[in-house]
Order: sequence, then structure tokens, then C-alpha cells
Amino acid sequence: MSADVILKDVNKVYPNGFHAVYDFNIEIEKGEFIVLAGPSGCGKSTTLRMIAGLEGISSGDLIINGKKVNDVAPKDRDIAMVFQNYALYAHMTVYHNMAFSLTIRKVDPVEIHARVMRAANILGLTPYLNRKPKQLSGGQRQRVALGRTIVRDPVVFLLDEPLSNLDAKLRGTMRKELMQLHERLNATFVYVTHDQIEALTLASRIVVMKDGYVQQIATPKEMFDNPENLFVAGFIGTPPMNFYNGVIDKNLEYFEHISGTKFKLTDHQREILGSYAGQNVIMAVRAEYVYIDDAHISKNLESKFEIDVDFTEFIGAYNLIYGNLGDEKIIAKVYDRNEITDNKLVACFDMEKVHFFDVETTKRIR
Ligand code: ATP
Repeated sequence: MSADVILKDVNKVYPNGFHAVYDFNIEIEKGEFIVLAGPSGCGKSTTLRMIAGLEGISSGDLIINGKKVNDVAPKDRDIAMVFQNYALYAHMTVYHNMAFSLTIRKVDPVEIHARVMRAANILGLTPYLNRKPKQLSGGQRQRVALGRTIVRDPVVFLLDEPLSNLDAKLRGTMRKELMQLHERLNATFVYVTHDQIEALTLASRIVVMKDGYVQQIATPKEMFDNPENLFVAGFIGTPPMNFYNGVIDKNLEYFEHISGTKFKLTDHQREILGSYAGQNVIMAVRAEYVYIDDAHISKNLESKFEIDVDFTEFIGAYNLIYGNLGDEKIIAKVYDRNEITDNKLVACFDMEKVHFFDVETTKRIR
């Protein structure tokens, strides 16, 4: 496989001097689904707009399909972009909305017809080709917006929060449709979202950004299991990871939480925490790895603790328990369908799944 889109040390400094993107590096393979994720203002749209050519690149190189395109006009870049606010032409039918960009490029009408019919077929829009946008549902309109890009047959699809105007249920449906579309087209997608669920479900690799800096580039599974730093650990996954302040004891036996509760380290943790004996660290564990059942607790007697329960939510297949471990919050996701009414619960962590982070650098200790 060859890289389709390469960003090499790409920086963006806006004319007012604001440095929006720092040293962005990635090699995107053909057919990948890359999701740029991060909170508002982190630089993800700026990055996408640089790939599209809607923003200039202040320094670094952008290569699409083997060609350096820093100074190539957007229309000559083999890319197509779908925006959050897709404006369809209200007076045109679905067919003509999709055909329009090809018509103005003077593509042969027979070819235009073939491409529109193919896109309509892929997107399930064939029955609606003669309708005007106002006669369509939100999801159908979104598909027409996608159709307008598919007909252009680009090498790379750029999508900027294309689902954010849709309600939650429709977003779920469109997510599935996007995944199928990506498979059918076998094209490269670069997709911007601030929604980490979209990132986890759609991406072949996620890029998490913060304040203009790339924090981690990894597959969804890798990012979920092994977040690179505290920011990624808190951003990816719902509920967010639980974090605990404490100290590694001098003999590297335990993590001692500020509440005094001790957690026995695994052999692997003793190895990687070697230089942290006697030092403060942050321990982190996902809600999924907190257990309140006897079977787990009896196996983890040296790491059990008490949860002061604030409240529980029954979500259907599981319960979410919100409470406190000492003075720090805990959320536990417990696959027990019984109603939980206790004020105090004995619990344990799966210590194999626990991570430790450096207090100063915020990086995962590995
Ligand atoms: P959102 O999810 O809110 O769209 P984002 O991660 O996509 O956020 P960008 O739109 O890339 O963020 O903006 C990154 C930063 O650059 C922001 O702090 C923004 O205010 C700033 N910015 C964007 N456009 C300009 C501009 N034309 N001039 C100066 N600063 C800008």
C-alpha cells in the first residue's frame, strides 16, 4: 500500500499571528478512514482545510497521491469536501444537485448521468432523484451532500463534522451508512469530529489534537487501551477514565492512594515503575475495569476498596455507579442487571488494566 496523503511538519500560523497547528506529521494510506478528533479550537478543521487547500500551509509539506500540492488550487487536488453546513440548491432536484459540479466542469453529459446514477445507487437515493431538498428528511439531505462529492470521484474525501446537524438517532444511522460507503468506495477519508464516539466507531486511525498539537495517532482499540497521555485518556471513552493521585511505595509493592487505600502492583507495573519508587504518580482505570462482584474481589483482595455511592444509573444492559474513592470520583460500569441501592460498595480494579501516568509530563509510564 502506498501513502495517499502525507503531512510533513505542517504548521499553520494565521495572519494575525495565531499558531493554530504545530508540526503535524502523518502518512495516510490509501483507503484509510482517518478521524481528526479533539475539543473545540484544537486545530482539526484548520488541518482539514489545509489538506483541502482552503487554507494555506505556513510551513511543511502536503503531498497528495505522490504530488506536493502546497501551492495547488483546491479544485486541482483530487479531493472533495463535505461540510457541516452543506447548502443544497433549494431550486434544484436531487439529481441536479448531484450533477451540478460536473456540469460546470463541462463533463460529458453521458458520463454525468452515469456518475449521478451510480452515486444515487450507492446512497439509496434513486427513488428521490426528482425531489427538491425541502421534500427530503435531514438524513436524505445529508446523503445528497455526500452524493455531490461522490460523483466527483475524488482520491480523498474530506468531511468536516458532516453529521453534527442531525439528531442522535439519525447520526447513528448515518454513521453506519458512512462506514458502508467508505467500504464501497474504497477511497481515503479524512473526517473531523469533536465526538469521540464517532471517532471510535468510524476510524481506522484516530488523531487526537489539543491546542494545535497532535497528542496521539492510533487505532481506536490502541487509543482506548493505551492512551498516550492524560488528555487522551480523558478524551477517549465514555464514561471517561477514573484518575487517582497517590504515591508508589519505596519497595515498589503498592500504589498508595491519597485516601490511604493501597493497590498491589502487578509484576509488569513494578518493572515499568522502577524509577518512580517513592514518587507521586496518577493511576488511571476505565469504568469497565471496576468490579463489585465476589468472584473478582476474592481474586483481588490486595486491591479492594470501598465506593461511597452517590447514585446509580440503570442503562439497560449495565449499571453505572457514580461515587467516591476517598475524596476522588469514581465511575464504575457494572454488568449486573440488578438494581443497586447500597450506599457503600466493596469494589476492586482489574490491576492488569490499570495505567500510571507521570505527574509532570502527563505521559503514560511504559
Ligand atoms: P471546532 O470544533 O470549534 O470547529 P477546531 O478544532 O476545528 O474547532 P479550528 O477551526 O481549526 O478548530 O481553529 C483552531 C484555532 O485557530 C482556534 O483557536 C481558532 O480560533 C483559530 N482560528 C481559526 N481560524 C482563524 C483565523 N482565520 N484567524 C485566526 N485564528 C483562527
